[in-house]
Amino acid sequence: MKIWKGVGASGGVTDGIAVHLGGRSGFSVPARVKIGDADAELRRFSQACAQAALELEELQKRTKQQVGQKEADIFLAHRAMLEDQELLHQVQERINRGINAEYALYEATEQFAQLFSAIEDDYLKERVMDLRDVTQRVMNKLTCAAEKEFQLPERAIVLAEDLLPSQTVRLDRNKVQAFLTMAGSPNSHAAILARSREIPAVVAMGQGLRDIPDGSYLIVDGDTGTVYENPDAYILRRFQEQKAAQEAARLALRTAAQRESRTRSGRKVEIKANLSTLEDVAEALAWGCDGIGLTRSEFIYMQSSDWPDEERQFSFYQAVLQAMEGKRVTIRTCDLGMDKMADYCRGEREENPALGLRGIRLSLSKPEMFFTQIRALLRASAYGSLSIMFPMISAEWELDHALELAREAREQLESEGVAIGGDIRYGIMVETPAAAVLADVLAKKVDFFSIGTNDLIQYTLCVDRVNPVVAQLYDPCHPAVLRLVKNTIEAAHREGKPCGICGDAATHGDFARKAVEMGIDSLSVPPKKIPQLRKLVEDCD
Ligand code: PEP
Ligand code: MG
Repeated sequence: MKIWKGVGASGGVTDGIAVHLGGRSGFSVPARVKIGDADAELRRFSQACAQAALELEELQKRTKQQVGQKEADIFLAHRAMLEDQELLHQVQERINRGINAEYALYEATEQFAQLFSAIEDDYLKERVMDLRDVTQRVMNKLTCAAEKEFQLPERAIVLAEDLLPSQTVRLDRNKVQAFLTMAGSPNSHAAILARSREIPAVVAMGQGLRDIPDGSYLIVDGDTGTVYENPDAYILRRFQEQKAAQEAARLALRTAAQRESRTRSGRKVEIKANLSTLEDVAEALAWGCDGIGLTRSEFIYMQSSDWPDEERQFSFYQAVLQAMEGKRVTIRTCDLGMDKMADYCRGEREENPALGLRGIRLSLSKPEMFFTQIRALLRASAYGSLSIMFPMISAEWELDHALELAREAREQLESEGVAIGGDIRYGIMVETPAAAVLADVLAKKVDFFSIGTNDLIQYTLCVDRVNPVVAQLYDPCHPAVLRLVKNTIEAAHREGKPCGICGDAATHGDFARKAVEMGIDSLSVPPKKIPQLRKLVEDCD
């Protein structure tokens, strides 16, 4: 038996077979070639950057759906790196001196990597891997190389010099048991992704990692950062015990997820799930949600090449409602705009898209498409308990207009003899300060409120939610935000209407506790977070 030590970056124990990925994360030195036409080479470089940006946009969307917002933001940061003027300038300047784009990019990257590595700041040091990930993506475009797909055996323990974030999200979770790296730190994005995908990981294992033979049997302890190669009988026995305890703890968490959540004083707080795709429904049910608090219907629009027709929308809404078997499902009407756009509905370029034509504003500017969506929703309502929610309301007339169109759609369907569900509820997202301030007026006109903290925080604090430069100012517990939340909950309750939260702040411990104390009726979160929210509610007075 051999024992290897590193730094535990993602907890849990597991076992499997060592598989070396090899190479320095796939980053090889390209040939240096003298070029004749610098302009053509610059064009080739900027095309490669544009293609890489598109790929990152896709990866960001996929990660958001499959893993979470925080993890998806890693690829947003990658896109920002791709637009870094200094890096671009360094590459362009070399191309202008007659160096081919591949080598120019390689040299500029290495120069930046050395600069980052020399800074006494762990966070910046870790960004070197992100930089390499981004430039490798552009390099692949330049050389027309496809991203390497790893063919992994079952129960693989992946060994690599270091892992790029995009490699980590692509590793097949059904096969990868753990990953071990020579370099890296628990702060790296690859480690963050491993934690959210519940893959044990040990980093900073040093050069010794190379000596672990391919195919050897390993036990990995991601909590202590220990790896056992060909473990002896004692370690094997202890591992079996640890693994059984780990499984029991997971099962307890899942079982806890199925029970009702009440505060110590006995007040019930529903824990619901946020959905973007049909696949999320099974996960939401597995984690024992009390219903769906937010379905981001715009994803159907973003996955289409043209406005999705009534039938396509109907079958999606119907499938969600049927799968939920009577539990209440809240579907938000399409919230396109800002960072959620589909090519076919891109209008005039907007200087400030967050303050532009998004959410209900866009829907009301295209009444035919809004009408189509409402018809599809009303038809689907016959298959379960449906709540329809309007996003980005900032004025009373917008709500009136949306409700009026819903009434017309209902009349039309009734005249066609189409069945409609009996208990459809209408509500709004309270995600603009205007809606929160006007909550007393709006509460009279709806059946429920759902506070969208992602936007409410951004608009209240004037902090762009996707801009990492001001990320430290994005504070869910800022007193101004808390006052608006309190005002909204109280206004809803004065009218006898429930008020929930469906923004990411619902998963923020301090904020969620305060919201429960203020009397919030439900918290809607990504499915995986349901058990921890149940526990949080039970610990509140
Ligand atoms: C919100 O703004 O809090 C919200 C849930 O909506 P989205 O994140 O889709 O804008
Ligand atoms: Mg929002």
